Amino acid sequence: MRTASYNCPCCGGPLAFDGATGKLECAACGNAFESEALEMLNASECGEQISFERPKEGFQEAEEGVQAYVCENCGAELMTENTTTAIECPYCGSPTILPDRIEGSVKPEKVIPFTVAQEQARNQFEEYFKGKWLLPNVFLSSRNRIAEMRRLYVPYWLFSCDARADMVYDAEKKLTEQKGEWEITRTKHYLVRRRGRMSFENIPVDGSVRLDNKITESLEPYDLRAAVPFQSAILAGAMADHADVDCEQCEIRAVERVEHSIDEVMRDTVTDYDTVKVRTRHIHTEDGRAIPALLPVWLMTTVKEGKIYTFAVNGQTGKLTCDVPADKKKSLLWGLGVFAGALGIGALILALTKALGSGSLLICAVVAAILALVVVGALKGQLKQAAQRSTAHSYILDGSFHLDIHTDHFLYESTTKRKLESNEQKK
Ligand SMILES: [Zn+2]
Ligand SMILES: [Zn+2]
Repeated sequence: MRTASYNCPCCGGPLAFDGATGKLECAACGNAFESEALEMLNASECGEQISFERPKEGFQEAEEGVQAYVCENCGAELMTENTTTAIECPYCGSPTILPDRIEGSVKPEKVIPFTVAQEQARNQFEEYFKGKWLLPNVFLSSRNRIAEMRRLYVPYWLFSCDARADMVYDAEKKLTEQKGEWEITRTKHYLVRRRGRMSFENIPVDGSVRLDNKITESLEPYDLRAAVPFQSAILAGAMADHADVDCEQCEIRAVERVEHSIDEVMRDTVTDYDTVKVRTRHIHTEDGRAIPALLPVWLMTTVKEGKIYTFAVNGQTGKLTCDVPADKKKSLLWGLGVFAGALGIGALILALTKALGSGSLLICAVVAAILALVVVGALKGQLKQAAQRSTAHSYILDGSFHLDIHTDHFLYESTTKRKLESNEQKK
């Protein structure tokens, strides 16, 4: 039996092992602790070891059926099937794209072919421009350019791994009661341990520098079951970006998403407490691997004040996203209009009911301001702006999550007293 010199977590006093109970007892405060709980309390800090293996093989010299290009204007490195004539850059629309060499660049292993036809993608864009009151005018005119929509295969890295996590939480249950002029809070302190495993499959991370991760993560999910092995014929009539963000950089994002997902999944198993804090966290992955893949996107870009804005439609599901900002002037006008209108109507009602006074008018103004914020917020929400995803929940393989350790140790109870102010006592 290990009886390392642990101190009492309640009062800090020395602990002595009691052979009769098998626990470590504190003579000073009378609490007793299981040695397992004490070991958890004194465990080393957090540790992570998450890694992915990736294929070394790139395109060989003179890859059959594939022609590479580089855009003179934006620098995009592109490729297509070699009988397809490349006319313009799918990112910036520039016609000056020049033949390039393919060897050495990342060779995709899998491709999801387009299932959303041009007509369908066009309807998505058309639909989008209806009733968007805060859309800047420059984008309204881009509606006329829907024909310029381009088929683009975006390079992704798909990350898979089996993860093991060992978490220890500090948890508390609080009970508050009032006795006369005192408020007494009893806090029960617990040490909670959860150890489990889960498998992640094909978490996609965008490997192109030209498409913002916000855009690509908003286009998710893709159904990878429809992926086929890469072959140059699939690129006919479309352009593909060949991964320019290397796997190492993408891995950072994949690790972030794996960590967040594990944190959430494990935390969800700690229930019935008032507060829960992570004490230590150990994450370890096995069989981590990353494979390069091409995923289909319909793309339309608009240049405004030198910045490129993007509309994108998932080429497999038809989901639309974009990064267009709300027009500041239009937002302000809408806000002021709603505010003035609501205030006017409110004042009129107050006047008619003879309740008009500075107090009631102020309340009316506050309500009008809230109304204006709600309306502008709702109009902004319509724009479907892209947002990053922090977790990878949906990539946890069904049925792969198992807990093998699930223990909740009670440690001790502490009491705090607070004298109530005279106005609080009446409650
Ligand atoms: Zn003690
Ligand atoms: Zn370009």
